[in-house]
Amino acid sequence: MARPETLSGWAVERPGPADSGPLTAVRRPLPEPGPGDLLVSMEACGVCRTDLHLAEGDLAPHRPATVPGHEIVGRVVAAGEAVTAFRTGDRVGGAWLRGTCGTCRYCRAGAENLCPASTYTGWDADGGFADAALVPAAYAYPLPDAESAEKLAPLLCAGIIGYRALRRSALPPGGRLGIYGFGGSAHLAAQVALAEGATVHVLTRSARARELARELGAASVGDAYDAPPEPLDSAILFAPVGDLVPVALAALDRSGTLAVAGIHLTDIPPLSYHRELFYERNLRSVTANTRQDGREFLEAAARIGIRVTTRPYPLSRAPDALADLAGDRIQGAAVLLPDERFRPSG
Ligand SMILES: [Zn+2]
Ligand SMILES: [Zn+2]
Repeated sequence: MARPETLSGWAVERPGPADSGPLTAVRRPLPEPGPGDLLVSMEACGVCRTDLHLAEGDLAPHRPATVPGHEIVGRVVAAGEAVTAFRTGDRVGGAWLRGTCGTCRYCRAGAENLCPASTYTGWDADGGFADAALVPAAYAYPLPDAESAEKLAPLLCAGIIGYRALRRSALPPGGRLGIYGFGGSAHLAAQVALAEGATVHVLTRSARARELARELGAASVGDAYDAPPEPLDSAILFAPVGDLVPVALAALDRSGTLAVAGIHLTDIPPLSYHRELFYERNLRSVTANTRQDGREFLEAAARIGIRVTTRPYPLSRAPDALADLAGDRIQGAAVLLPDERFRPSG
């Protein structure tokens, strides 16, 4: 595999609204892998809402001029001397979680997603909006060669986080699940829930997303502020809209659980204890994911033959992908592909 000499991509230099051009084209020397790192040449990188939050400044930068992107599918072109699990030419996935301490009480209890020393791809280190990236081998996922890189990329954050949110929503077997917002993450979590026998109601303002939800097997679709046709055992809020928290809580049956999937949420309005929380309804957040979540989800995705709705963009048009995500103009998940591989699909 040819190893390029420089890295070309995009960095967040001045966070601001997506249409104000927060991404700057950068060309840098190719990074050298540390002992535990993989240098990966990019085959595809998904565009996640968290990338938008980083570009727009909803999440404060952890370091200047960082390359976003944490749904990296690529081939190992070089590995540090301590790496044993992967070899040159292997296809790997680089995801949001890229480091934890391994010794704190959260790490030891299987909750490494809560590690105070955790680090994240595209926030604490450069990510995949580039033709190459470093991925720590201990946080890389082996990926199948047979799948298309474009379809694998959204599994790595949208898919894994959606899966954790589904688990955090405590959906009982055969339960009634409400999904608020239906983008990249939601359309994957919905398929896992449906495969497990859930009845899924999708509530979203986007008419195109409602159409996709229907195609995937949702029992009902409605506007985000509509009441679902039956009380819910569980709900997941994927839209980063705090106003929807009381709406989704009110839709829960007694003892139901609402999981808020996003890393960023607009302010939650005052809650009415009786209308929204009484009867032991639960409100839970979802913070990143563990590697175990990642392994479980990637296994489930392969087992159920998950359908990934993507919209490809050439890497050179990453700013358009972000702007389209900001404007809710994307059905499914946006994925950046190297320009030379880019073939628009329908
Ligand atoms: Zn830790
Ligand atoms: Zn993400």
